[in-house]
Amino acid sequence: MITKAIAVMTSGGDSPGMNAAARAVVRTAISEGVKVYGIYNGYKGMLDDDIRELTSRSVSDLIQRGGTFLGTARCMEFKTPEGRQQGFQNLQKHGIEGLVIIGGDGSLTGGALLSKETGIPIVGIPGTIDNDVWGMDYTIGCDTAANTIVDAINKLRDTASAHRRIMVVEVMGHHSGWLAVTTAIAGGAEYVIVPEVKSDLKQICDDIVESYEKGKRYSIIVVAEGAGSGIEIGKKVEEITQIDTRVSVLGHIQRGGSPSVEDRMKASMLGEKAALALISGASNIVFGFNEGRVVSVNLFDAVNNTKTLDPELVRLARVLA
Ligand code: ADP
Repeated sequence: MITKAIAVMTSGGDSPGMNAAARAVVRTAISEGVKVYGIYNGYKGMLDDDIRELTSRSVSDLIQRGGTFLGTARCMEFKTPEGRQQGFQNLQKHGIEGLVIIGGDGSLTGGALLSKETGIPIVGIPGTIDNDVWGMDYTIGCDTAANTIVDAINKLRDTASAHRRIMVVEVMGHHSGWLAVTTAIAGGAEYVIVPEVKSDLKQICDDIVESYEKGKRYSIIVVAEGAGSGIEIGKKVEEITQIDTRVSVLGHIQRGGSPSVEDRMKASMLGEKAALALISGASNIVFGFNEGRVVSVNLFDAVNNTKTLDPELVRLARVLA
């Protein structure tokens, strides 16, 4: 069977580089002579039939933009088999024979269920700043987000040092400490608190007091939001250490911004791979990067397994603190 039309969508939390990936899918499909549709606003758009054909021009002037021109949304109805059937009917209406889904764990889980129930071929591309998709060590947007955080840590260090303060920096990551531990290493933070590893706050405080007694001028603690509220942790730290403490909750600034070269390059490569694979009849796979190389992972394996935090990173953060 020769594929005549595919679709591309972004779903779940947005991440810088999603545009570059969608652009690559669109331009690859067109260069292969295959029609390509954009599904707007994630699964919500699939259910509402917010589906439009895209041209090469539709994805002009996008590679440098964060966010996603296709929009994204959370859609509870898609979690029901009836919702997914309705979405599938809309795909059929447009003659769409396969789907590239750019999104995180939740979006890929939705895609796996859609494929299982309807048989529609799905190829996934991991798009999330959390870098928490199983079977790979990179997801689109994690590099830009990590750079944004490190830039903030650099600035916070200047002011913390001037005042001899402790600075608690809360970063994103409900279940994943990758962003926190990576930016703690790259930003030279003294401590990192992540959901995956038990931390002893009293011990951290005692260490800080000792280091201040020896003349240290500041201390930076990076906290992943899933490990506790930065504000609460800051209060406790100040109470225990009696050292002036400030908290910076970085929030949504971490999601935005122009994607880094790494995110643009990898997103472009994954977009091309995903489109070519789908067009040539592949299904139920996710393309990602692992140890610098493109890998393909079974979609069901990717969503049924949980990625764990690399203990080497945790160890390194401790050694270098
Ligand atoms: P992310 O893809 O970033 O992990 P979410 O977890 O919010 O983001 O998922 C995005 C969307 O994917 C949800 O709003 C929902 O429509 C769909 N989805 C998530 N989990 C499931 C699931 N278990 N079953 C079906 N659809 C799901």
